[in-house]
Amino acid sequence: MKFDKDNMKNIIEENILKYVGTRTDTNSKEERNVEKFYEEWFNKVEYFRNNPDKRGLFDIPGDYLDRKVPWCLLKGQGNDTIVFIHHYDTVETKDYGLLEPLSRSPYELMEAFKEGKMELSDEAKEDLFSDKWLFGRGVSDMKGGGSIQLSLIEEYSKDPNFKGNIVLIAVPDEENLSAGMRGACVLLKSLKEKYGLEFKLMLNSEPHEREKDLRPTIYDGSIGKIMPVFYVRGKLAHVGQVYSGLNPINLLSEIIRRTELNPNFIEKVGTTTNPAPTWLYHKDRKMVYDVSLPIATCGYMSILPLARSPRSIMEELKEISIESFKKVIDDMNRHYKAYTEIAGIEFEPLPWEPKVKFYSELYNEAVADSGEEFKKAFKDLMDEIKERFNRNEVTIIESANMIIEKTLEYIKDKSPMVIIALTPPYYPSTNNLMLGERAKEIEAVIEDIKSYAKNNFNEDYKVENYFTGISDLSYAMLVSSKDDIDYIEENMLMWGDIYYIPLEIIKEISMPVLNVGPWGKDLHKYTERVNKDDLFYRTPQLLDLVITKLLDK
Ligand SMILES: [Zn+2]
Repeated sequence: MKFDKDNMKNIIEENILKYVGTRTDTNSKEERNVEKFYEEWFNKVEYFRNNPDKRGLFDIPGDYLDRKVPWCLLKGQGNDTIVFIHHYDTVETKDYGLLEPLSRSPYELMEAFKEGKMELSDEAKEDLFSDKWLFGRGVSDMKGGGSIQLSLIEEYSKDPNFKGNIVLIAVPDEENLSAGMRGACVLLKSLKEKYGLEFKLMLNSEPHEREKDLRPTIYDGSIGKIMPVFYVRGKLAHVGQVYSGLNPINLLSEIIRRTELNPNFIEKVGTTTNPAPTWLYHKDRKMVYDVSLPIATCGYMSILPLARSPRSIMEELKEISIESFKKVIDDMNRHYKAYTEIAGIEFEPLPWEPKVKFYSELYNEAVADSGEEFKKAFKDLMDEIKERFNRNEVTIIESANMIIEKTLEYIKDKSPMVIIALTPPYYPSTNNLMLGERAKEIEAVIEDIKSYAKNNFNEDYKVENYFTGISDLSYAMLVSSKDDIDYIEENMLMWGDIYYIPLEIIKEISMPVLNVGPWGKDLHKYTERVNKDDLFYRTPQLLDLVITKLLDK
């Protein structure tokens, strides 16, 4: 070990209190408070005082809040490099109620809790009085892990013969759209080129939670996330003539019933099983009350894939939508037939055809039907959306609807149809297995961590192959084919205008990942807390072990 344990505890404590004390509510201008924190920290560390070119605040390209990614490089001997990442944004603090002003002052907050100023669960109360836990917004998620990273760099920077290199990247917006990490990929590529860095590992320190067995967990991958959006255009009809219309609510409901919790989308890879898909939103496009069927309806769902590509998932969703469409037409015909029998009129099958398109197909149809006229209208709309989105006047789903509706205007076909697209955010799934040979070394390090923890802390670490809480490690590697990347770019609404992931760059700098972080509880709640033994002693030792094994061979 390259540091004195008690000294390390003091450094971490100093860093975490200052870091937590800096207000950085996610997706807000408060995130920029971090700039002052980092300026002070850079100036505190002699190495960065003397090497101002090896630290900085990187401007996130095109960010509407002008947020930065604080970074630094501890340049030692050789090219082998470990990238430390953590996010500095934290979720809001309203849930602390009257104690909100103390939410970023852990010791004062704990005093107030001890005085009974807030109702706590039995477990939280026990932890509070045990003196083994530190409470406060962000102590666990994740300025605790962030402070461990800073403190290790502080210690290592005192060694003039440090072997290897450490890059630190602190990103905003992780709890929102990960603008920080998506931008940081560009920074990593330029550091790699400038200093000839060889990226061995991206090391994150998100907290882990424990189940009843109290076993700690490390992760060597991160679950993916895609958000397919469905726009269903029906056929308008007065409620008195229902059989001449097609109710889009009926059709989307069928699609929802066939996909919600559908086990076809469950995968088991290594030690991880992903949860089934679920719908997060469903709403018609009727703006005022009238006696017509709604013209359209839309909804989006969330799918958390492990190894499956977005394209393969979307193709299955398209199949399900076609089947749903057929079923709805069959049901409508059956119901209509019953009506004709009761009414004593002649039955003629309804004219509907199942029609389901990916957004890229719809877009190409609009270009074919309307050419330049459509392209101009599309560009104008995107300019408008970009402006309004950046002023927080329009949501992602509203923007998605506007784009699909604009595109539909420019195609000749006016029949009912289902459009399936992707909306931001998109998190690729990552696991070291995807990198084959390159990740072998990390597998060995994981075994070292397990035996070190067993021998020194009597703790039995387990390995999960995917961090299922969604993390920025999603942007550390990509093995998708060109076709799959193209598919995402063509079907992701707002791609390039409001939302962009440098997928080609990620593919180029791909590196193995690992998440080793302290034990945390009640993340995002007012009883958020981090285990002090992990924070001050155990986790720093495990991170030091990883660094020693990979850099100091
Ligand atoms: Zn987090």
